[in-house]
Amino acid sequence: MAVEHPSVLADERAEDLYRWDREHVIHPQFSPTDDSRARIMAHGSGARLTDTEGRVYLDATGGLWCAQIGHGRAELAEAAREQMEQLEFFASFWDFSNQPAIRLARRLIELAPDNMGGVYFTVGGSEANEIAFMLARMFHARNGQPERTLVLSRQSAYHGITYAARAATGLDAFHTEVGPLPGGFRHLTMPHPYRVENCTDHCVAELEAVLEEVGPENVAAMIGEPIMGVGGMVVPPDDYWPRMEAVLRRHGILLIYDEVVTAYGRTGTWFAAERFGVTPDIISTAKGITSGYLPLGAVIASREVRDAALQPPGFVSGFTYTGHPACCAVALRNLEIVEQEGLLENAAEVGRYLLERFEELRDLPSVGDVRGCGLMLGIELVEDRETKAPAIELAALLGERFTDEMGVVIRNVDQNLIFSPPLIFTREDCDEVAGAVRTMLERYGPS
Ligand code: PMP
Repeated sequence: MAVEHPSVLADERAEDLYRWDREHVIHPQFSPTDDSRARIMAHGSGARLTDTEGRVYLDATGGLWCAQIGHGRAELAEAAREQMEQLEFFASFWDFSNQPAIRLARRLIELAPDNMGGVYFTVGGSEANEIAFMLARMFHARNGQPERTLVLSRQSAYHGITYAARAATGLDAFHTEVGPLPGGFRHLTMPHPYRVENCTDHCVAELEAVLEEVGPENVAAMIGEPIMGVGGMVVPPDDYWPRMEAVLRRHGILLIYDEVVTAYGRTGTWFAAERFGVTPDIISTAKGITSGYLPLGAVIASREVRDAALQPPGFVSGFTYTGHPACCAVALRNLEIVEQEGLLENAAEVGRYLLERFEELRDLPSVGDVRGCGLMLGIELVEDRETKAPAIELAALLGERFTDEMGVVIRNVDQNLIFSPPLIFTREDCDEVAGAVRTMLERYGPS
C-alpha cells in the first residue's frame, strides 16, 4: 500500500477539506467566502510549516506566540506518550494529585520571582486570567477587605475572550455583540512611548488620579501585560513598571502580570517580571509553558495569595482539567529543553539581531516605529511620519498577502506587523523575515 506523505493530499481530497472547513469549522476571526480556502497546516519541523498542498512556510508567529522549542519535537510526543501510558488523567480536585502536576508546580516556583509560593493550573491563558481576578478578590475578601473588587487594566490590552478576561481586554472589537460584559474593570492609557508623550509620567499621574477618583480601598488589582502583545508589541519605558508598582504597593493593590506571552523565555528571561525588576503578586502564564504541544495555563501566586487561597474552604474553583498529568509532563520536558538548549539566551540574542534588521527598514516612508524585546517584535506602519496617522489599510493588505507572496507567516493587528517566532529562530531566519518585510513594503507601500 502506498504511503501518503501526511502533508500532501490528492487534489480531490484537498477540495473536500477546503469545503468542509468552510461549511463546518468556525474559526476565530475569520469570515469565509464561497471560494475562500483555509491554509490547512499539516506538518511542522523547527521553524518551518508545511500545508496540505506541500507548500513550506517560515513561522514568524510561533503558532500563536507559543512554539518556544519549535515544531515537531519528538521529545514532547514521547513525554506525552509515557505519561498517558502511566496515567492519562485523573482529577486534581479535593485531596487528589498527580506527580507531573506536583513537579511542575515546584519547577515553576523555582523559576519564578522569589516571592512566589503557589500554582493553579488552567487549560489556557483566558482561564488563567479569570483565576487571577478571582484569587485577587478572594485575597482581599479573606483579609477583611471584601470591598476591594475593581480591577485596573489598560486600553489595547489583551487578556483573553472569556467574560472577565474579555472585560479586562481593552480592545473595542472584543466588547461588541456579546455583551453585557461584567463590570468592575477600568482601562488606563497604554504605555506607548511612540504615541504618548512623557509616557511614564503621564501614566503614573493618570493612575494616581484614577485612584483618587474611585478610592484605592475599592481596588483589588491592576492587570497588565509586561509588553503589550496584541496591542502592537508595545515595550513600555524601563521606569514604567517600577513606578506603577510603587503606587500600587502604597495602596495595597495587587499587581497581576499577564505573562501568557512573555513567560518562558520569549523576552530573554524566564519571566518578564525579572527584566522589568518588579515583583507581581500573581503571574498568569500559558502558551510557551508547553510550547503549545498540549493546552495548559499556570497561575503563579505569591505566598500571601496562596495562603489566602488555602484557607478553608479552599479555593472553590476547579476545571476538570486542572493539573492535567499529560499536559504537565509535556510542560516539564518542554522547560527542560528550553533550559538545555539555551533558548533564553537565543531569544535575547537573535531578538536583538532581528530588531537591528528591522531598524534598517526605517528608510521606508511607511515605517513609523520599530520595537521589540527578545523575540516579541513589532513594526508600526504610518501614513505620514509627522502626523503618525496609522496605516491600517496597508497593514491589512500586507497581512492578507504576506504569507502567500513571501512564504513567511506573520500577523497584522491594526497598523502593526507583529512577530513572535519560535525561540530556536536563527539569524538566517531573521534575514528571511526582514527581507520579506522590505520586499512587501516596497511592493505595496508608498515609495
Ligand atoms: N493574555 C495574553 C497576553 C494573550 O496574548 C493571550 C492570547 N493571545 C491570552 C491572555 C489568552 O490566552 P488563551 O488564548 O490561551 O486563552
